[in-house]
Amino acid sequence: MVTIMRNHRRKKTSRKNHHIITWVIFLEFVVLIVGLVIVLFPRQDSELDALLEQDVSIDYIEDDGQGEQLYVPRPDIDEQLLTVNEYSRPGEKTKAINYVVIHYLANPQTTAQQNHDYFESLKDLKDTYMSANYVVGLEGEIIRCVPDGEIAYASNEMNNQSISIENCHKDTTGKFTQATYEALVKLTAYLTEKYGLDRDHIIRHYDVTGKDCPKYYVENEDKWEEFKDDVMNYREECREKYQVTEAETQLDQLAAYLESMAEQDAETEGRQ
Ligand SMILES: [Zn+2]
Repeated sequence: MVTIMRNHRRKKTSRKNHHIITWVIFLEFVVLIVGLVIVLFPRQDSELDALLEQDVSIDYIEDDGQGEQLYVPRPDIDEQLLTVNEYSRPGEKTKAINYVVIHYLANPQTTAQQNHDYFESLKDLKDTYMSANYVVGLEGEIIRCVPDGEIAYASNEMNNQSISIENCHKDTTGKFTQATYEALVKLTAYLTEKYGLDRDHIIRHYDVTGKDCPKYYVENEDKWEEFKDDVMNYREECREKYQVTEAETQLDQLAAYLESMAEQDAETEGRQ
């Protein structure tokens, strides 16, 4: 009887040992897994977070200098600033930028360059005060004569709080060519986006003084409304295009990330 009891106890002890070994192996396995999770996952998660939070840089997105993103691309602008002079570029700051004022040059067939050069020549001619911040040419070229936020002589009492855009045209109707029109839409969209101006802050010289300028868009009110619509629609299109591109870029990056993780997993498994 005693022998039987002893045998029984021995059996019990060996079963207990077996249990302990199983537990140790199991714990080692748990420690290994936890270790792997700690080593691998926090890094991956922060990588993923960084990826999702990062600013997607797309060529046509510009920083406005105050850290704000502009959705409207900056059109090609030929920077030919006038010499600071009393007659066309006084070099004084405007008190604000509240309006974009649209003009026509009233001398058919002249180019943007010719008009720029005329503004520049006023410092020597000394007979008239005239200029604009921008001139848009017959081929859609854009010349900047006076920096934004600096006074140009175009829009009378609005000079102190606006950006003025002069436009070339082909004949006495004053209608802009398609190229001029498109460049003007893009430039106006860019400037109104940049300075946070809405549709009502796009005005004509006519709205300031009653002058017949820009002629075609004073005489055809519907075309003027259409122009402002085109500007606002273009801004909206740019915004939508940006959002779609941003989403696509993020999806591409996420897909690439997941693919690289899958490759890493495959490598790790291969090693085991
Ligand atoms: Zn005008």
